[in-house]
Amino acid sequence: MQLFSIFGNPVSHSRSPLMHNAVFQNLNYKACYTRTFLEDAKKLKETFFALHLSGANVTVPHKEAAFDACDEVRGFAKTVGVVNTLVNENGKLIGYNTDADGFMYAIKEFKKIENILVIGAGGTARALVARFLQDNIKVSLLNRSAARLADFKQMPCECYTWDNFQTQQYDLVVNTTSAGLKDENLPAPKELTQEILSNTNYVADAIYGKMTPFLQMAKKMNKTYKDGADMLLGQGVLANELFTNHKLKTEDIQREMKKSFQL
Ligand code: NDP
Repeated sequence: MQLFSIFGNPVSHSRSPLMHNAVFQNLNYKACYTRTFLEDAKKLKETFFALHLSGANVTVPHKEAAFDACDEVRGFAKTVGVVNTLVNENGKLIGYNTDADGFMYAIKEFKKIENILVIGAGGTARALVARFLQDNIKVSLLNRSAARLADFKQMPCECYTWDNFQTQQYDLVVNTTSAGLKDENLPAPKELTQEILSNTNYVADAIYGKMTPFLQMAKKMNKTYKDGADMLLGQGVLANELFTNHKLKTEDIQREMKKSFQL
């Protein structure tokens, strides 16, 4: 029996155990997925091996630390320096990023996305911004504090804090902050958030399983919006393929994982 887990702080809200266990159980794959509360990111690697894990996911706020903890990082995670999926390959910790492609899967139904505002500058934002730029989408970034913008300033995107922000017309605005996750905060001051939302066609929040104050505002303003559930599904399917070393069919993983959203 293989053991998998998700590391985070907080981690009790995570639906990943439900999603992956639904796949393992219904497709007769001998594995179990649990959750691990981790306060000190420096302990990620030793905890992973002490628990004899075959693989793991990493959530807030440890994704950048996960990148540093890996023996080897593969694919898109190398471009962004952010890891959300870990695989134990013969005692070596291999890191991947499935968040960005999971998000692209989620916004497939939004048409003509050429100009995106990303709110937040953490691990998720880094992955999404790099992925959008890969598709030649124009990207602006807004973050509460200036410190985390430094890395983004090396990229071809416009970077703002609340103080110097200038609203433009956007096709999509994405909240990648954790504002609204365990509190009732908006990702930016109320008036600024209102101004931003009145200048976009579509709205997305990376947070799932909760109508955040950000999405509540978007709904009130009659915007087309979605929470992070489809992003979660997309990243989960890709992570499960890595966990099971592509032994299960993608469409079967997707079907069983989606069913777990009803639970
Ligand atoms: P990080 O901790 O790396 O980054 C958090 C970001 O949020 C920072 O930019 C921080 O700004 C900002 N922030 C935190 N609190 C506030 C606040 N009260 N007001 C404004 N800005 C704030 O987090 P991640 O990038 O890893 O994750 C972000 C969110 O995305 C989480 O809620 C997570 O659950 C969700 N997520 C969902 C996924 C899905 O599949 N649906 C996948 C991945 C993430 P500052 O720099 O000023 O501190």
